[in-house]
Amino acid sequence: MKTRAAVCRAFGAPLSVETIELRPPGPGEVLVNMAACAICHSDIFYIDGAWGGDLPAVYGHEAAGVVETVGPGVTRLEPGDHVVATLIRNCGFCPACAEGAPVFCEEVFPLDRETPLRDAAGRPVVHGLRTGAFAEHIVVDASQAVAIPKDVKLDSAALIACGVLTGLGAVVNTANVRAGSSVVVIGCGGVGLNSIQGARLAGCDPIIAIDVESAKLSAAREFGATHTTNARGENLAGRVAELTGGRKADWVFVTVGVKGAAEQGISLMKRNGATVLVGMPPSGVTATIDPGSLAADGQRILGSKMGSARPLIDVPKIVALYREGRLKLDELISGRYPLDRINDAVASSRSGAALRNVIVF
Ligand SMILES: [Zn+2]
Ligand SMILES: [Zn+2]
Repeated sequence: MKTRAAVCRAFGAPLSVETIELRPPGPGEVLVNMAACAICHSDIFYIDGAWGGDLPAVYGHEAAGVVETVGPGVTRLEPGDHVVATLIRNCGFCPACAEGAPVFCEEVFPLDRETPLRDAAGRPVVHGLRTGAFAEHIVVDASQAVAIPKDVKLDSAALIACGVLTGLGAVVNTANVRAGSSVVVIGCGGVGLNSIQGARLAGCDPIIAIDVESAKLSAAREFGATHTTNARGENLAGRVAELTGGRKADWVFVTVGVKGAAEQGISLMKRNGATVLVGMPPSGVTATIDPGSLAADGQRILGSKMGSARPLIDVPKIVALYREGRLKLDELISGRYPLDRINDAVASSRSGAALRNVIVF
């Protein structure tokens, strides 16, 4: 079938909105009519070439829509289902899936071997971030789509697919924090605000939010931060020590992909504390740590990929918290844009001013 998509043809250049060819869903796959796709910083890193990869490509992976058709053998979903679509393609049976880590699924799927997308000239187009959701329709493996109740707004639901799963999951899955733990969150964008609301839901205290944008720090307070600190000009280590009885934080979550933020984060954890690295810098960026003091202080550094999410468990839980009014989604949306204005949405997200911009179809 034909669909319209925002195609990246050169790194750093504006996306080009084109009519492309999308093949029908094969066995185990679904075709989703897109309702909304938010712009994540990972999309921008890809658009800017920070992580390499082939072109042309369609990115976009924070998505929600309505199942249009299902391929042979799909029993868990049916046409008309409202779904959140993630990039977490998983088989359920490999060693990674069996140990509850579907983000590290080892299976190779037909969609991994061959892209479902072709441009007007018949050339293959990369199915970016395993989703290709800056498009009016997507074909994904059924494991990537999780059904949600039909009364949940799809533009808000789209945010769950990456920012919420990742930010909240880093706190409640990867770190599995305890009530009363002291938490620092560095970066208060679409991921960091969800780490903050995860820490609030888990009963952490204090929850100290750090950013360089004062608007994001105000948002952090709305999402549950007990204290905020502007990284520009304030003595972060002194401030965090002052708020934690001189010990610094039990848990530090670094939600931005910036080397300096990772190094700063490591300096803000207490003895016997832990730092969770959530944001991913461009390929090749390295940070400096002091292994001696890490060992002497019994500290841990953990990576968190997609919030260690198990979508079939986490998405329904997040939707339930949202419907009960205990988790914010609507407030994460800074702007809504049609696909034809995606370059404006990307520019706004890149400037750092927006929480999340959403393409609505
Ligand atoms: Zn993302
Ligand atoms: Zn698997």
